Amino acid sequence: MKFILGLTGGIGSGKSAASHWFEQQGIVVVDADVVAREVVEPGQPALFEIQRVFGDEILLEDGHLNRRALRDIVFQSNTAREQLEAITHPAIRLSIIEQLQAAESPYVILVSPLLFETNQHELTQHTLLIDASVELQIQRAVQRDGQNIEQIKKIIAAQMPREQKQQLADDIVLNDGHLDHLYQQLEKLHQQYLLRAK
Ligand code: ADP
Repeated sequence: MKFILGLTGGIGSGKSAASHWFEQQGIVVVDADVVAREVVEPGQPALFEIQRVFGDEILLEDGHLNRRALRDIVFQSNTAREQLEAITHPAIRLSIIEQLQAAESPYVILVSPLLFETNQHELTQHTLLIDASVELQIQRAVQRDGQNIEQIKKIIAAQMPREQKQQLADDIVLNDGHLDHLYQQLEKLHQQYLLRAK
């Protein structure tokens, strides 16, 4: 069986930095956020289904999903949110499974900010948490996205608390120093994962 590593961490923790490092080592990384966008591209069954349930107003003129219109709808109604998730979650899961299975590298990584929240960790054999203090998360996310502090705090509040993720993860890397320090810790784990994958 293929060794699949689940990689997670809150916003600004350093997930993308870690993913890129693993990719540079030749490890295929499937990104749940990317898959979530792929499954609602024009021509995809999930987009047809969303159009059927929510109407043509959730489409832009060029046929792409009008994310803002859809966000407004699900923001106002829990039922609508559940309907949307009933369409997208199975499609995302299926596509993730297909991409993980198709990947050809010594082991494969599924990176997801909501790995535990959406039970995507069930698709993996082992999990790695990229961990950082909330203060550092906010500082990095604000620097990267130029979003205001309140928006970042809202996203953090909607994610599983750091302590809970620490309980669930098999491995934890504390990303509170220089990037080189992050990469050193990842290198050690990478060697363990290569051995496990054999
Ligand atoms: P995530 O994907 O978890 O939201 P990123 O990997 O994008 O987080 O990191 C957020 C920002 O902080 C990025 O601009 C990244 O380059 C930077 N960053 C991450 N880790 C460190 C670190 N150890 N030192 C300095 N900057 C970092």
